[in-house]
Amino acid sequence: MTEVARRTTDILVLGSGGAGLLGALHAKSAQPDLCVTIAVKGLLGKSGCTRMVQGGYNVALAAGDSAERHFMDTLDGGKWLNDQDLAWTLVTVAQRRIRELENRWGCFFDRNPDGTIHQKAFAGQTFDRTVHKGDLTGIEIINRLAEQTWARGIERMEEHRAIALLPSRDGSRLAGVLLIDVRTGGLVLVQAKAVLLATGGGPTMYTYHTPSGDKSCDGMAMALRAGLKLRDMEMVQFHPTGVLAGPGTRMTGTIIEEGLRGAGGYLLGGDGQRFMHKYDARNERATRDIVSRSMYREMLAGNVNEAGGLWIEMGHLGPENVRRQFKGMVERCADMGFDLAAGRVPVVPTAHYMMGGAVFQPDGSTALPGLFAAGEDTGGVHGANRLGGNGVANSTVFGGIAGDSMGAWVPRHGTLEDPDPAALDAALALAHAPFGKPAAPLSPIRDALHALMWDKAGILRDAAGLDEAARGLDGLEAELDAAGVDGRSRAFNLAWHDWLNLRSLLLVSRAIVAAASAREESRGAHWREDFPHGAEQAAGLSATVATLGPDGRIALGWQPVHFTRVRPGESLLAPAAAE
Ligand SMILES: Cc1cc2nc3c(=O)[nH]c(=O)nc-3n(C[C@H](O)[C@H](O)[C@H](O)COP(=O)(O)OP(=O)(O)OC[C@H]3O[C@@H](n4cnc5c(N)ncnc54)[C@H](O)[C@@H]3O)c2cc1C
Repeated sequence: MTEVARRTTDILVLGSGGAGLLGALHAKSAQPDLCVTIAVKGLLGKSGCTRMVQGGYNVALAAGDSAERHFMDTLDGGKWLNDQDLAWTLVTVAQRRIRELENRWGCFFDRNPDGTIHQKAFAGQTFDRTVHKGDLTGIEIINRLAEQTWARGIERMEEHRAIALLPSRDGSRLAGVLLIDVRTGGLVLVQAKAVLLATGGGPTMYTYHTPSGDKSCDGMAMALRAGLKLRDMEMVQFHPTGVLAGPGTRMTGTIIEEGLRGAGGYLLGGDGQRFMHKYDARNERATRDIVSRSMYREMLAGNVNEAGGLWIEMGHLGPENVRRQFKGMVERCADMGFDLAAGRVPVVPTAHYMMGGAVFQPDGSTALPGLFAAGEDTGGVHGANRLGGNGVANSTVFGGIAGDSMGAWVPRHGTLEDPDPAALDAALALAHAPFGKPAAPLSPIRDALHALMWDKAGILRDAAGLDEAARGLDGLEAELDAAGVDGRSRAFNLAWHDWLNLRSLLLVSRAIVAAASAREESRGAHWREDFPHGAEQAAGLSATVATLGPDGRIALGWQPVHFTRVRPGESLLAPAAAE
């Protein structure tokens, strides 16, 4: 009989990125008497991708810009697949959230000489609206939010990994979450009246990827297993400029920011020549999907450097200017042995962000009463492609909203329930699955997963490749099932957590592949070589919806996109403003 420690809280927040911390701070502010607890796989203030945000935060603040313009840019980038009510919430609430980040939580952003907030250019936007702190914006946001969290009596369970969302006995609501205390290997059942899912997605199933190492799509996998729907899972964003730092370093794949291209940086092929003009009139300032695809095509054509990638070059903008404007990026590249200001840095497109995720409402609620969701675990805000700068806006806007909603919901509807014993048993079985079998190395499974998703379900897709990916994932799941982990010591048992990471990644990869196979068109980040058209047509558009069937397979359905605020071909902008 497995020993499971028990704990209760009013509100449990999973994850401590922008979504989790804003969720906890808002919930605690709304209801100071409630017990709010953050459980996080890594360390609070040190984990997740919000801390890694470089470029900045999109928000319409300046004269000449407007929420309507930001909204239209977001729909245009998302190729009209966005849930319009979610996108509208993003652009309007961001306007007060950025003030709140400064005035309430103490974040400092760069300013113009007249004292207004400085906003810079990001690709794919018709207005320079990206608020930033130098080129390392996320550190400022997360440090200040973490300090506020420490100061406000919010409970913390650091290095606690959530593995299952547990329904109540009658299945009518969420009862709590099963977690592993990474430090001891012990299991902890936290009963909570409301839970915020904010574990940040993270497409770390691809060879080159940017997200922090603690992210393995656990939240999406837990949501699927709890019966929730995931939408738009085929929409995986590749960022054009992941650094090729060489094999054997975790720095490979990590990005240097989009503002480099926004400022006029050049992308060069292995032959040292610019190539973007062959693909898009905006050259390097085209949207991420177009630039990544163009780079990948150059790579397939063999126009690569000795590292197997391409180059970014900034020196023509003046090395001193580049050093001043992109201090953090220049220093980061120097750490890896590259001179960004005056030389060239080898780059490759890299899996960056998942537009897809759990279906949720503008107030943060989900179909499972008691479960709220925010940030990169959710889908619908960005549609088929996310604009750079809309990611951290998304996590802080909807994290705060979910915190407010939980604060209002718990006093009226919250009860502490016992979890369904069968669901708890299934979760314990999942946690212990790798024990009691001969230990096997997991890196071959991880490497094979990376290569399979990169080659067959990555930047360019077709039916044959996606079928191969689906079969390959079945094979890898069988290999993982057979692979054991030495369970004699469970404290900081990294092989065990690697096994669990792979379990989540394989399940969510299957959702990606199923959705990518079903969408027989090219739209935004999803490119089908066998169906190169589609995005020019938005009327009658539907989103893919993935669920987990009783047979353990992904079931794929469709959900119509409702054009609740503006119809394809129309604009919220007056004709002069739209130019
Ligand atoms: C290098 C990089 C640069 C970026 N730059 C920008 C930018 O300039 N502008 C922009 O808008 N966006 C940017 N993004 C995207 C942005 O970081 C994300 O969109 C956003 O911050 C995600 O916030 P989140 O709160 O949903 O998740 P995260 O900030 O990733 O937080 C996830 C949290 O969940 C925890 N967690 C994970 N699994 C579990 C589990 N099983 N149990 C408990 N806790 C768990 C993690 O430890 C972490 O604390 C960038 C991303 C990267 C990787």
